[in-house]
Amino acid sequence: MDYNYLSELLFPDVKMTAKELEAKYPERNLPDGAVVARFAPSPTGFVHFGGFFPVMAGERLAHRSGGVFYLRIEDTDSRREVEGAADALVRTLSHYGVEFDEGETATGEVGAYGPYRQSRRVDIYHVFAKLLVASGRAYPVFSTDEELDAINTADKKAEIKSVDWERDAEARREAMLKQREFTVEYVERELAAGHKFALYVLADGDGERKIKFTDLVRGALLLPENDEDFVLLKSDGVPTYHFAHVVDDHLMRTTHVIRGEEWLPSLPKHLMLFRYLGWRAPKYMHISQLMKLDPDGSKKKLSKRDMGANMDDYKRLGYDPAAVTEYVMTLLNSNYEEWRAQNRDKSYRDFPFSVKKMSVSGCLFDIKKLDDVSREVVSRMSSDYIYSALTEWAGEYRPDFASLLSGDENFAKAIISIGRGGKKPRKDYGTWVELVDFMSMFYDETFRISDKYPEGTDIGDVISVIDAFAASYDEGDDMNAWFEKIKKIGAPLGYCPDMKEYRANPDAYKGSIADVSMMLRVAVTGRLNSPDLYTFMHIIGKNAVILRLSSMKAAISSVNPEV
Ligand code: GLU
Repeated sequence: MDYNYLSELLFPDVKMTAKELEAKYPERNLPDGAVVARFAPSPTGFVHFGGFFPVMAGERLAHRSGGVFYLRIEDTDSRREVEGAADALVRTLSHYGVEFDEGETATGEVGAYGPYRQSRRVDIYHVFAKLLVASGRAYPVFSTDEELDAINTADKKAEIKSVDWERDAEARREAMLKQREFTVEYVERELAAGHKFALYVLADGDGERKIKFTDLVRGALLLPENDEDFVLLKSDGVPTYHFAHVVDDHLMRTTHVIRGEEWLPSLPKHLMLFRYLGWRAPKYMHISQLMKLDPDGSKKKLSKRDMGANMDDYKRLGYDPAAVTEYVMTLLNSNYEEWRAQNRDKSYRDFPFSVKKMSVSGCLFDIKKLDDVSREVVSRMSSDYIYSALTEWAGEYRPDFASLLSGDENFAKAIISIGRGGKKPRKDYGTWVELVDFMSMFYDETFRISDKYPEGTDIGDVISVIDAFAASYDEGDDMNAWFEKIKKIGAPLGYCPDMKEYRANPDAYKGSIADVSMMLRVAVTGRLNSPDLYTFMHIIGKNAVILRLSSMKAAISSVNPEV
């Protein structure tokens, strides 16, 4: 068969040549070892936590090597496209500090290798489709109008058909071989009749034979050769993922394809296309699915519906993006935490990220671990940063609290500063939700008694302690003087002022100085656990201290009229 003639018949309008395209998208001028990686989402939904992984890995590898990280929107399946999804993806990633050097940005398209949206590259795919036909590697399969209708309207049927074929490999093979047989005259007739064709690749592989392949994460693998003729262009001329991404990764000069392991089974198809087109395939990293631990202890795939799967959830839940990226880094490289322990003040961007330290078997998503990491990260942030991040977050999710925050910046910052700085900063909260809860102890508008006095607390003593403390409280006292006063208040009531002495002789006392402090703590903070009480009192000020003490006294006196 005259394949050149066939290619002209099928693609009469394609005038551009592969050579011209190669010249238009030249090799990139980058330092040795520079990685060109991409994020290539289909705009069908949100960024999944499991999908964020490959993104971070790609971003790190590209930017640490002086390379390029670009965004390509794979929107060839318009039926699955969700309006606005691409913009939302970019916004989400930008929230996590992932920025692209090329691709669609807020201000339009950036980069010399575009367009970066597959739907705008159809002409380019047709050039290579024509080339494949001309080299005898691809052929048309015509559908009658009825068949097309059936495919377009009844996706379900098409699905069922392919399932049946999977079960019956022999039938599939026969159908495939049959569709390879046609004459040029037949093609001419079909085209003249206005019938549309899908373009199939002619597979030269043998499923019984294996190809050797090295995945950068998984190491050496043996994969079956591809023996399946698959669709390159659908009958509307739009390419499939398999075809489009191979063309794009080549022309955009991608060096590393980093993607989910679900693509590993189709890799032989992709490698075959690279070979047919005479291109060197990029390096591949297939990253394992993210797993979660079920309550019964078994590991399951983190599904789309799982809490925490959507990267946008974390914003709402009040995680700072730095905490989330920090957690992802701990999952990506097994030596990250060790490095972090020695480099507390460095950015994760300074970490020598390495493909070799990536887990082959898949990472476990653990929200408790995220919380730990988050507390650590937040504990090392500056008060100024926290104040502005919190104000922004609260503006969106807790407007009531946002106005409190902006009402008195110094007051808010004084609270946030508690236990900050130094070698071992406090880790009272890891999210803005937790911080709002923490701060709500301080504001009169949000203060409430959350904890009760423990069972057995002598309410009469509480009242005596409150009275004596209120009478003697002096804001000018230093911590020592302040504490001495509390000791002196407790001692005559039978509360040992010295903890050591109390522990040695507990039966000799009603309680200890810790109990006396607790009596004041619950009244002033509303909780059994609070930040340092002395500092707390200074932040809220004497008036508030006295007011809270007298409210507590009134409340417990009304419930316990006998005391
Ligand atoms: N569009 C594909 C997806 O969203 C991209 C896979 C790849 O990175 O090659 O899964």
